[in-house]
Amino acid sequence: MDVEFILLALSPLFALAIIVEYRKAKSSYTVREFLLNLGLALSHQLSDLIALSLLMPFFYWLHAHFALVDFELNFVNITLAFILQDFLYYWFHRASHRCNWLWCAHIVHHSSQNMNFSTAMRQSLFYPIVGMWLFWLPLIIVGYPPELVFAIVALNLAYQFFVHTEQAPKLKWFGLIFNTPTHHCLHHARNAEYIDKNYAGVLIIWDKLFGTFVEPIASKPPQYGVAERHYRVSFYDVLITPWLILLRNLRLQNSWRAKCRILFGKPHNLKQF
Ligand SMILES: [Zn+2]
Ligand SMILES: [Zn+2]
Repeated sequence: MDVEFILLALSPLFALAIIVEYRKAKSSYTVREFLLNLGLALSHQLSDLIALSLLMPFFYWLHAHFALVDFELNFVNITLAFILQDFLYYWFHRASHRCNWLWCAHIVHHSSQNMNFSTAMRQSLFYPIVGMWLFWLPLIIVGYPPELVFAIVALNLAYQFFVHTEQAPKLKWFGLIFNTPTHHCLHHARNAEYIDKNYAGVLIIWDKLFGTFVEPIASKPPQYGVAERHYRVSFYDVLITPWLILLRNLRLQNSWRAKCRILFGKPHNLKQF
């Protein structure tokens, strides 16, 4: 399957962007964190590769039996697929910040106190387990072929690599419609004003439509990282500790109803141990 290699094929472009940024902003990089972010990117790619290999037969079965429309794959229909996938990404991302089960995977991406292109590579290998792929099923049911759907998912992620920098100019007109570094840096901030804002993947219009859009406040420069805890630059700490914290919070609850409230409830209010 080719779709899993789209991000790997684009990696020379990512490497070039990192080199250019590093020459401008050396202080936002440390060797240790760069290696951690690279390791997280590779382990995420590997887990995605395994999950897609296992799930593809199911996606094809779903497409064969439940596809609503037999799309002709022309420019208009493929553009519509990009827009629909980006809309679904917005809701996946929003849910990841509102539900502990999903947040345990997504927190990896937010646990750095630095913002640079390598932060984009900081992804969790647990995404297939928490069920990120469930959010793309509507595209398959609408009628888009699974290979196309996952190629679009990869290209959306590739676009998002470039919004992880403080070195870009403010893209005023482009930023009316598209997600830009200015918007996404605020998404990574732990300042109260910026928490749970700017969930966009490619199009910022979803945040404007659904009330989660924020612009920079001159007196509040973004402070990066998560509010609840300082995560060490360690593979184990950023990947595993969030799950241990969730598990301990679940054990504190006596009823199944209370456990479900913790599991699917809002993050940021768990006891941190
Ligand atoms: Zn996020
Ligand atoms: Zn990000």
